Amino acid sequence: MVPRLKTAAINEWFGRLPGSIGIGNVRYTTSGKCDDVSIIDGTQPVVASSEGTKVALSFNGNIVNTMSLKKEMNLNFSDFLYNCDSDIVCHKMLLGLKQGKTLEAAARIVMESLDGAFSVIGITGEGQFFAFKDQHGIKPLCAGHDPEGKTFAFSSETVSLDMNSFVRDFELKPGELVTVSENGFKRTQIIENPREAFCCFEYAYFSRPDSRFDGKYVYEIREDFGRNLVKEFPEIVKDSDIILSVPETGDDPAMGVHEASGLRWERASRRHRYVTERAFILLNNERYSTIDKKINILGNKVAGKRVIITEDSVVRGDTTKIIIEKLRKAGAKKVYLFVTFPRIIGPCFYGIDMSTYGQLIGSRNNPKEIAKIIGADAVCYQSLEGLIGATGQTENQLCLACVTGKYPTPCAQKMSDVMKKRFLEGYEEKNRIYESEEVQP
Ligand code: SF4
Repeated sequence: MVPRLKTAAINEWFGRLPGSIGIGNVRYTTSGKCDDVSIIDGTQPVVASSEGTKVALSFNGNIVNTMSLKKEMNLNFSDFLYNCDSDIVCHKMLLGLKQGKTLEAAARIVMESLDGAFSVIGITGEGQFFAFKDQHGIKPLCAGHDPEGKTFAFSSETVSLDMNSFVRDFELKPGELVTVSENGFKRTQIIENPREAFCCFEYAYFSRPDSRFDGKYVYEIREDFGRNLVKEFPEIVKDSDIILSVPETGDDPAMGVHEASGLRWERASRRHRYVTERAFILLNNERYSTIDKKINILGNKVAGKRVIITEDSVVRGDTTKIIIEKLRKAGAKKVYLFVTFPRIIGPCFYGIDMSTYGQLIGSRNNPKEIAKIIGADAVCYQSLEGLIGATGQTENQLCLACVTGKYPTPCAQKMSDVMKKRFLEGYEEKNRIYESEEVQP
């Protein structure tokens, strides 16, 4: 949707907005329907009101116990309409404000009753500007201010603060509520976090390379991923002539591989500047033609060469398969795949749209089998230890559920255990697991 927006229309719209506080979100659909109309209906922020209490809210993440909460909202609000989990979070906050009377109490009610990942920003009917994170801190959310100290902002990534010349102040802690007044931020720890679980996929794929976590740029971490892969697969490096990176999230690890191995890094692919769809979030039938149009291979750079190609991750495998096909057609003699994120064996319930076992090539195939399916000579995943070490965090501070099967929240663990068993017995998943009534606790 975003590439379709016209700058002139946005500017005109901004000009019509009154007031001094605003919230917004670019939604990446992980719940509700994915057609254009449903996505527009589910656009954040969501606004809810009841008997004089009002709240507008926007969130990043995904709620796992959606179905049971949906029933609760239907009982409490006669006009409750469900498009996606944003409606649940907003109405739960509204219910919390009505029951708890204070913002702190409402945030506690939300944190205690939602299972999942939620980094929330919102405005109450009284004009209180607030932000909070779930008690595991799964998704990022940081705070900053303008150079004059008059305007305060929250953002899921530091890059948007940088781009607006704002100063980054802090990353919200898990279970923390932050409110804003003209004097700045007020931080309140609402719930002590039982176990921090920051999404490790943010480092490998989701975040922009020019964003920072704990003072370290994401691109630096990705370069370290590449250096690790050289250490972990010396035989493959020895058997290769060049390193390539397709698509963009592979660029920084490719730099790391190049520096650590001395292999020549070739820019052997060119991206079509005006094809802006992200292949990962497209429907199956759209993906092949989009990648085909988006990425062009320079045959003279790869013909007759043994090539290592760096990828951030392999989810379904079909994007990588197309790229490898294109490299082979261009004459590559061997194609090895270096993957920075370890093999994804289980779904994500927290805001990345890979929500069934069936769609994951790694849930039922080992690296050798995956290599055969996608047409690579070998698929080399970075080790879990390498990944964790490069982030500068410890295993206990990260969510690694999709690569280990250990989920940080109870409802997600229960659902994954039930569905994994059924999947291995041959059950065919039809919906995202957290949207299947049958596995809701
Ligand atoms: S399951 Fe994977 S993708 Fe989802 S939050 Fe955890 S690490 Fe991130």
